[in-house]
Amino acid sequence: MSREQVYNFSPGPSVLPESVLLRAQRELPDFAGCGMSVMEMSHRSKIFQAIFDETKEKFRQALGVPDTHEILFLQGGATLQFAMVPMNLLEGASADYAVTGNFSGKAAKEAAKYGAVRLAADTTATGHDRIPTQEELSLDPAAKYFYYCANNTIYGTEWQYVPETPSPLVCDMSSDILTRPVDVSKYALILAGAQKNMAPAGLTVVVIDRRLAGRELPITPEIMSYRTMIEKDSMHNTPPCWCIYMLGLVLDWLAEQGGIPAMEERKHARAQLLYDYLDESGLFIPHARPGSRSEMNVTFRTSSEELDAEFVKGAAARGLLNVKGHRITGGMRASLYNAMPMEGVEALLAYMKEFEVHHHV
Ligand SMILES: *Cc1c(COP(=O)(O)O)cnc(C)c1O
Repeated sequence: MSREQVYNFSPGPSVLPESVLLRAQRELPDFAGCGMSVMEMSHRSKIFQAIFDETKEKFRQALGVPDTHEILFLQGGATLQFAMVPMNLLEGASADYAVTGNFSGKAAKEAAKYGAVRLAADTTATGHDRIPTQEELSLDPAAKYFYYCANNTIYGTEWQYVPETPSPLVCDMSSDILTRPVDVSKYALILAGAQKNMAPAGLTVVVIDRRLAGRELPITPEIMSYRTMIEKDSMHNTPPCWCIYMLGLVLDWLAEQGGIPAMEERKHARAQLLYDYLDESGLFIPHARPGSRSEMNVTFRTSSEELDAEFVKGAAARGLLNVKGHRITGGMRASLYNAMPMEGVEALLAYMKEFEVHHHV
């Protein structure tokens, strides 16, 4: 199957804009006439420093990051941040965690190694099918921070509001960063693995209020210290050079498309198409409750695992790839990141309708 015949609904690493891939291909062997690839140059070279600085500036512009906050380009995925956040911000005290899915659960578990974790909310009992309301949050005024995951990639739920908390906000935005406007000044720290919406795997973007750096536990490895990474401008060691370059290309594409406002509009339109149908369907059952639904990862199933498997197989045969749900949840999941065109969602919808006609009892 060729790229032209495929829509890739992968939850991550996921689809990138084709124009970005083609530009990377053109620039791959010889970047800007310097005789070498970005993959081959020193991260301390002038030419790479320019790529780095420009990418950082483009990111600052795109998300509207204020001067109070530093942008870090790190490695280790969002998962390393599950440890880095408490090592740097918890000071051995207590933090509030809202557990609304797999990744916030993992983050809470990791943090408990470095201090006390209070569950401000926990939606495990209902299979993480919704986001708690502001009123439901149990908040500790003495907490060092409040941690939540903005979009639950596996379960398909997304916070539709920014929680009001007495403690600084820390948020995992791995799967919905650059898809909606964010008032960055409200956050002490934002973390995001790049491979869902920004770049290839290998880069983690952290946006941190500089005032919170410098409180790491003494055992914190140097490479895991926000203070060190701020002082060294993410170059305490070799950064993920290629991924940073690719992020720059994606940010150029994003700006050409109309920036975050355009992404948000498309995100609403894509998801609406699927949820409208899911709510009417006699065959497919959406997982997330209205009011909590993710516009990035739409999760659904039929009443039978055999039918689910048949659906996934039939989708793949039509070039609708990676619609199988996560192994934890089963069912199906359509991930609709920024680079997913509307035509992809329309093709998926057409297949769902046809499948329902053939299987509805
Ligand atoms: C994918 C994902 C993670 C895990 O990211 P890694 O880069 O694999 O560590 C964490 N949080 C969210 C919300 C994700 O979507």
